[in-house]
Amino acid sequence: MTQSVQNALPGLSRVGVLGGGQLGRMMAIAGIPLGLKFIFLDPSAEACAGSLGQLLQAEFSDVDAARRLAAMVDVATFDFENVPQETAQALAQIKPLYPPSKALGSCQDRVVEKEILTGLGIRVTPYHTVSSRTDLLDGLDKLGYPAVLKTRRLGYDGKGQAVIRDQEDLERAWQQLGDQELILEAFVKFDAECSLIAVRGTGGETRYWPLTRNVHSEGILALSLAGDFDQALQSQAEGIILRLLDHFDYTGVLTLEFFVLDDELLVNEIAPRVHNSGHWTIDGAQISQFENHMRAITGMPLGGTAANCEALMFNWIGHLPARAQILSIPGVHWHDYGKAARPGRKIGHATLTAESRQELAVNARRLAAAAGGMFPCLLNTIPGMNA
Ligand code: AMP
Repeated sequence: MTQSVQNALPGLSRVGVLGGGQLGRMMAIAGIPLGLKFIFLDPSAEACAGSLGQLLQAEFSDVDAARRLAAMVDVATFDFENVPQETAQALAQIKPLYPPSKALGSCQDRVVEKEILTGLGIRVTPYHTVSSRTDLLDGLDKLGYPAVLKTRRLGYDGKGQAVIRDQEDLERAWQQLGDQELILEAFVKFDAECSLIAVRGTGGETRYWPLTRNVHSEGILALSLAGDFDQALQSQAEGIILRLLDHFDYTGVLTLEFFVLDDELLVNEIAPRVHNSGHWTIDGAQISQFENHMRAITGMPLGGTAANCEALMFNWIGHLPARAQILSIPGVHWHDYGKAARPGRKIGHATLTAESRQELAVNARRLAAAAGGMFPCLLNTIPGMNA
């Protein structure tokens, strides 16, 4: 009897990924040593995960291509949350897709997402649904100024949103975004932003990485500092994410982005996938978000999620700083995604690790100065990191 190589391997070994960006690439970097093979579906021939597996070049709306991918793999996942529901569902009818397409669909619309959260008794930013200019004026009456107008769908990294502080902003925001379904949110004067990443295995085992402090610049994540909050906030965040894991009957990595306001957490966003704020786990945690996501979706035992050391991630947006200069700083781990540089595009990151918070702060200031641009200012906003 002939047996294919794949079938001879124990368990699931061929992973299909909808999306071939840096998240897919880091899944493969973590998954290949586990014995996994990767096939990515992405519209771009230049997709940066392509060098780590096979690349099926197709639009995300190409349901037949998703079915072809399903036929080639044992299990599938996604690295991009705007994959159309029909594509995800077509794939899921043929092979297991984790996280479930229900979670994917729910997180594609900011209003649906908030309805699910409030239905589960989870606090969110006060909001108003906007389908017309009258709705926008009603929303501003209700929520007051300033407020943030966002597209319900397809927004990411601060794209598709505008802060409204006065009448002039209102006109500009309406001109810019008014032809789509929108949501108006109260502007939260948060004390901090943070995120929690959890992983759940097919058997229900659940683990959480430490809460991460996040600093954004123009809506794009710039810095992530691991484990910067107390146990009370960690427990609060774990309680919230657990309700969502149960609600979605979830397998894989799930991320929640929060605003911290007077020791209370408000959910800003759900990401049903590995997340930029968890990149530090590659170099700073027992097992990274990428490896545990791979373990979870292929039915392997999960690994530890504790931090091994202090860790701070710097995101390289638009261009890479001088590598040799950055690497001369002790404790730097460099990650180049192999993407073409373009303004506003995430093309790499570096994680700084250290034995103590004090050592981290000293080297972080050197790193911020070497990277230049916004980094010295942004670093100064983190308690304990300023000189
Ligand atoms: P989002 O795409 O919704 O995650 O927004 C990106 C970033 O913009 C957030 O991480 C915040 O820094 C900022 N932001 C978004 N919505 C609000 C809000 N309602 N109030 C204050 N800041 C916001």
